[in-house]
Amino acid sequence: MTRRRIVVVGSSNTDMTIRLERIPSPGETLLGGEFLMAAGGKGANQAVGAARSGGRVSLVARIGADVFGHQALAGLRRDRIDVAHVYRDPKAASGVALIFVGEHGENSIAVASGANGRLSRADVARAAQLIASASVLLLQLEVPLASVQAAARLGRRSGARVILNPAPARQLPDALLRQVSVLTPNETEAAMLTGINVRSDASAARAAGKLRARGVQSVIVTLGARGALLASDEATCVVPGFNVQAVDTTGAGDIFNGALAVALGEDQPLLQAVRFANAAAAISVTRRGAQLSAPTRRQIDRLLRHP
Ligand code: ADP
Repeated sequence: MTRRRIVVVGSSNTDMTIRLERIPSPGETLLGGEFLMAAGGKGANQAVGAARSGGRVSLVARIGADVFGHQALAGLRRDRIDVAHVYRDPKAASGVALIFVGEHGENSIAVASGANGRLSRADVARAAQLIASASVLLLQLEVPLASVQAAARLGRRSGARVILNPAPARQLPDALLRQVSVLTPNETEAAMLTGINVRSDASAARAAGKLRARGVQSVIVTLGARGALLASDEATCVVPGFNVQAVDTTGAGDIFNGALAVALGEDQPLLQAVRFANAAAAISVTRRGAQLSAPTRRQIDRLLRHP
């Protein structure tokens, strides 16, 4: 197994969650909640997912010069992620998500992107050498689109596999899609990108076909507990998910993408890489939290051997 570099360009947030009987209405104060604080942001989550799955990972991101940024950085270091290109911004706060969760699991989320919104093309350019050394470049959409596009162009030019997880859902220009080796929408994102109502394997396959026609090489539509649909030059097929007892699906997509990057960095064939990512994400949904739930390589290999 060769362990080549994975570079993630994306967001870092601190998620602050209060669980309470219901989500407070405007003007209302509700007592009796339970507070939890955890590192989050799709970029950081996917970097941690990749590092635990066995990858050598670098993160390119922007945080504020505040206590939340400091804690986020410490967490990334604990997972042995290279943070030389996590820039500290003296003019912006670190990204924060404030989350209310009601007793039936319903939620309401407000995000202050802060420094994430200031990750610039110049920041990406400062990481050009690092990106040139990557075998896989992993991108999401919680930082400015111009920076995502700049990173994709650099990655493509140096021959990296460019994975784009198009989350949160939004429209994307064909110029970006043409730089993407593997696009990984969930059903909602695939629907938003194509206008196709993605509800079944057949509609997921139609959406994937449409995205490939716009210039993406391969498309993986994640299908929750059903697994993922892979559409590539070789085949279009559903790679079934693993049967587990789900307790919290927060961050499942992030763990899926981090693990996928590792498998592709090891030159595993696409189909095998999707199975690996399904296994990592399945373990993550049996645990609470996003980064907290990311499994280790040993745990993923065990599930793959004994499904
Ligand atoms: P997102 O979290 O981005 O909405 P999905 O819900 O499609 O994405 O989940 C991503 C991946 O996580 C799936 O492709 C699958 O591998 C895994 N997964 C999600 N939910 C379950 C589940 N209940 N049981 C097993 N695996 C799951």
